[in-house]
Amino acid sequence: MLSNSLQKAINEQINKEFYSSYLYLAMAAHFDAKALPGFASWMKAQASEEWSHGMKFYEYLYEVNSSASLSAIAAPPSSFGTPEEIFKTVLEHEQGVTASIKAIYDMARAENDPKTELMLHWFINEQVEEEKNAQDILDKLKMTGGNSFGIMFLDQHVLGARKAD
Ligand code: MG
Repeated sequence: MLSNSLQKAINEQINKEFYSSYLYLAMAAHFDAKALPGFASWMKAQASEEWSHGMKFYEYLYEVNSSASLSAIAAPPSSFGTPEEIFKTVLEHEQGVTASIKAIYDMARAENDPKTELMLHWFINEQVEEEKNAQDILDKLKMTGGNSFGIMFLDQHVLGARKAD
C-alpha cells in the first residue's frame, strides 16, 4: 500500500497523462482541419500513447493495493498557432511532465519506497524519448522557416511515417 501522499501524487499524474492525451487529440483535430494528415496521425498516435501512460499508473495503484481516484480532465485549447509553435508547446508540455514525474520520484525516495522508485524508472526513460522526439520535430520545423512545401514534406515523410505503437 502506498502512503497517502504518494497515492495522491500518482492520481494527479494519471490526470496529467489523460490531459496530455486530450491535448494531443485537440492538436490532431487542428491538423486534420488544416489538411495536414501526417501531423494529425502523429498526434493521434501520441494521444493513444498518453492514454496508455495514464493506464500504467492506474494499474500500478492496484498492484500495490492502493486505489485510483479520477478527477475532471481540463479542456485543452481549441485554437493553435503554426506547426512550429505547436511543437514548442509539445516540448514545454513534456518538460513539465518530466518535472512532475521527477517530483514523484523524489517523494518515493524520501519515503524509502523502492518499488515506486523502480516503477518510475520506465517513465523517466520514456520522458527522455518524448522530449527528444518533440525537439527533433521542432528542429526540423525551424529548418523549413515556415515554408509550406517544407511543412508538407515533413507531413508526408516524417510525421506521417510514424508507426502506431
Ligand atoms: Mg506521458
